[in-house]
Amino acid sequence: MSVLKNGDICPVCEKGKLKEIRKDLIFRYKNSSKKFENENVFACDVCDYEALPQETNKRIIKELTDFRRNINGLLLSDQLKSIRKSLGFNIKQMAKFLSVNDKTVGRYENGKVTQSAHIDKLYRILQVFPSVASILRPDIGIPISSFKGHVILSEHVTLRENDNYIPEPVSAYNFIADDYLDLKGSKNATGC
Ligand SMILES: [Zn+2]
Repeated sequence: MSVLKNGDICPVCEKGKLKEIRKDLIFRYKNSSKKFENENVFACDVCDYEALPQETNKRIIKELTDFRRNINGLLLSDQLKSIRKSLGFNIKQMAKFLSVNDKTVGRYENGKVTQSAHIDKLYRILQVFPSVASILRPDIGIPISSFKGHVILSEHVTLRENDNYIPEPVSAYNFIADDYLDLKGSKNATGC
């Protein structure tokens, strides 16, 4: 997308010229609407064509994606980014963990692409139980020290891996749940 300027020939009718104006933009989605006030818009003086400057376009796409995510109960761009960062994952490691293309994680975070409900759940699981990352994808090579308080769990998994053991989801979950309770300081509350 090239940079727009006043006087550019309209790419649609090829007769009119683009003129920079200011206007409110309103977007509707599932009975909700979002308004962007007083935005710069390039409008053709002959036909209905309108275009947004590149930077505005980028910002609005991100905000609109978050607007739709919010309505659909999905995590927002900045939440996805902060969960990834809290795990100490870079974009590539996160992509490998999620089994998506390297570029996809960046696109989730800048709002160009909306994560599926399944991917959203994975993020939420990682947020609460970060050790899941080392169980499901030990090949990513995340240092054990990344997970404070989860050292025993990681050692446990490494031993089992040598036996080609694939952790059962249920037992792995229980183990992490116990570990998580300990971290929360409710060790004695489990009644064991
Ligand atoms: Zn035009």
